[in-house]
Amino acid sequence: MQGTFSNLQCQRPCCEEVWESRPYVERILPCIDLSTGELNDRSVVPLCPSCGGDMMLNVRGGSWFVEKPYEGQCAAFQAWLRKAVGGRLLIIEIGAGFNTPSVIRWPCEAITARYRGAHLIRINPQHPKTQFPVAERATVVAMRASLVLSAVAARG
Ligand SMILES: [Zn+2]
Repeated sequence: MQGTFSNLQCQRPCCEEVWESRPYVERILPCIDLSTGELNDRSVVPLCPSCGGDMMLNVRGGSWFVEKPYEGQCAAFQAWLRKAVGGRLLIIEIGAGFNTPSVIRWPCEAITARYRGAHLIRINPQHPKTQFPVAERATVVAMRASLVLSAVAARG
């Protein structure tokens, strides 16, 4: 679970709630001086509706991350994966680098390594390499995804 820029959370956090970012962003944007990038009205800075503290984007970055909103999606994915790994599973990973490798890159490798019926296709021009023991069941394509997908689509 990585979260989303579409939600804000309490920075502490005081609770497991998240709030949609859009209304906060819409209040902030008119108050930004475009020549300096500075905020000219501090009253629009989002504050936690629960405790009044600072808010931040709801994205994984440390122990403060509120993951409660994504637990249902995670459970659904885990249930799907348990069924899928019983047969053959093709994992297509596109552009997952090392910004947050624990979210996409490493789980794709771990699933491939753990299940004999899994094969990983990694499309990544900058970081295509896989690591043992995944390498024997992986195909790396060191190209931009747009080129690869266009070529696949052209083959019909
Ligand atoms: Zn709070």
